Amino acid sequence: MTSVHIAELSWTAYDEKLKRDNPVIILPVGSLEQHGPHSPLATDTIIPQEIGIAVAETIDGLIAPPIAYGYKSMPRTGGGNHFPGTTSLDGDTLVRLTRDILCEFARHGARRLLILDSHYENEMFLIEGIDLALKDLKSWGIDDLRIMKVRYFEFVSEATLATVFPDGFPGWPLEHAGVMTTSVLLHRRPDLVHMDKVPNQKPVIYPPYDLFPVDPKKGTQTGILATAKGATPEKGEILFKEYVAGISAATREAFGLNA
Ligand SMILES: [Zn+2]
Repeated sequence: MTSVHIAELSWTAYDEKLKRDNPVIILPVGSLEQHGPHSPLATDTIIPQEIGIAVAETIDGLIAPPIAYGYKSMPRTGGGNHFPGTTSLDGDTLVRLTRDILCEFARHGARRLLILDSHYENEMFLIEGIDLALKDLKSWGIDDLRIMKVRYFEFVSEATLATVFPDGFPGWPLEHAGVMTTSVLLHRRPDLVHMDKVPNQKPVIYPPYDLFPVDPKKGTQTGILATAKGATPEKGEILFKEYVAGISAATREAFGLNA
């Protein structure tokens, strides 16, 4: 079987695949951002890459090298941008990067793109990059590119949430280096997780507003917003399978692919 990784194909093999199959090209987008003392800085990049590879194999698509840096971490959703290791882009850099990559895939002949985002703060900058790419491509005579944008964590069912959080779900913004991301890592990359270093802390309560400049003495001091103590590889497997099945089905539906 040939690789699903564009980066591992020759230009001729890639070109043939595009012309023959019009495959969905998956672009994972993450961040380099602290994820507590127990999980890696690239958590937001590794997870959509792992999901993206499995989805590409399921729908006979291709996966592009990820955008491994994201927009600045915010205290209420990522702990804040002041942590060592957190390495972020200005908004216009992420917009231009997204626009450039999308336009290049369109120039190659790709017409179906799936952006697989996993970093809360990226959202509107990716949408702006998509919008600018579509406008530019239209002025170049390309008007049949379709782009699907997914936040993988939205593909979880209520039943799975109840299984993963028997004591109640703390909410999406607090799920940063929490039970869900840590469980998926324990399932896919246990070599990168240190459960003995998971902080034992209550969910961090933030007021319903942001203050700038950010005061590093306020908010989380460990980098986590809710504890990952309940994380297990078994929960990770349930979540991972649900993400892959749900995103694969949605991609087929959105692009009218045969099941
Ligand atoms: Zn993040």
